[in-house]
Amino acid sequence: MILDQFERPLRNLRLSVTDRCNLRCSYCMPEPEYVWLPRADILQFEEIERLVDIFVELGVDKVRLTGGEPLLRRDLPLLVAALAARPGVRDLAMTTNGVLLAQHAAELAQAGLHRVTVSLDTLRPERFEGLTRTAELPRVLDGIAAAAPLFGGLKIDTVVIRGVNDDELADLVEFGRRYRAEVRFIEYMDVGGATHWSMDRVVSCRDMLDSLERRYGPIAPIAEASSAPAERFQLPDGTAFGIISSTTRPFCQQCDRSRLTADGLWYLCLYATRGLDLRGPLRAGTPAPELAGLIRSAWTARRDRGAEDRLTTRDRAPLIPLDTLRRDPHLEMHTRGG
Ligand code: SAM
Ligand code: SF4
Ligand code: SF4
Repeated sequence: MILDQFERPLRNLRLSVTDRCNLRCSYCMPEPEYVWLPRADILQFEEIERLVDIFVELGVDKVRLTGGEPLLRRDLPLLVAALAARPGVRDLAMTTNGVLLAQHAAELAQAGLHRVTVSLDTLRPERFEGLTRTAELPRVLDGIAAAAPLFGGLKIDTVVIRGVNDDELADLVEFGRRYRAEVRFIEYMDVGGATHWSMDRVVSCRDMLDSLERRYGPIAPIAEASSAPAERFQLPDGTAFGIISSTTRPFCQQCDRSRLTADGLWYLCLYATRGLDLRGPLRAGTPAPELAGLIRSAWTARRDRGAEDRLTTRDRAPLIPLDTLRRDPHLEMHTRGG
């Protein structure tokens, strides 16, 4: 196991398999047009597998497939099967917007995917259309219905935005209960791509708890030791849910996460402005021990605490201006995988 400058181990790899997406969520891809990663740069499955093997050697045991929308990547179940066959990958999960989930859920489960998280911000069709610029809510709901019986512990992730969907917290908890899916409410983050972000649109963990307590009565925290970003809570009837306080109470101190973009750049923090190019050396035939050395040196020097640093910023505005995002799509949340 390797540790960074704050003794945080390298354990968790978020693997973006594409930068493309079939939704246009207002907090992630609000612009009319995007610059895409060149196709020739996108890592082949066999290249991803070689990199994962190196990461596993260095201590990674949790891998999460993400995007863009991971289900847009052709033949994804083949990659799932290859990763699931590696004993070092103890936890293999995927975060998806759910639009294509109904048609792929069975194949993914068969290929060995362990867990699925579906992002769902609203249950109201008009609101969904306003938030994503598509009318795909029915397909997302079908996806959840198809995946719930196949994957134990389905999760639903909801980004909460003031004045947009903050009146739906209880509805989403009720919806999750129907599928035995744990809902996790995420504070709106000022990451790259969130060009419409402002602090007054963030609903804090405290505000979310107050709102749910008004409906359900006293809420108790669930005590557990974990490096997972969500703090878990329990309603009086025992229903569990999570809150990811990424903006008001960041959890950088425990952060064991890093991100590999679809074109092989490795980022040590969601807020990092530069990543380490692993595709170049990989394609140049660099032997695995040398690639491992590059990864090890970068991780052991890691001092990133992006969200905590942002907390100390006065007059917070969107992290990265639009013209800078256009010059480097790697700064976008949909390229980094969230
Ligand atoms: N397309 C897939 C999806 O939406 O589940 C996977 C990629 S998406 C970038 C991963 C996660 O990032 C989603 O749950 C999304 O809600 C979250 N996300 C994107 N922009 C965000 C923001 N500004 N604040 C908080 N979460 C955000
Ligand atoms: Fe929405 Fe995920 Fe697509 Fe971003 S990548 S626009 S969060 S579905
Ligand atoms: Fe980890 Fe960076 Fe997020 Fe902090 S801001 S939790 S260091 S990825």
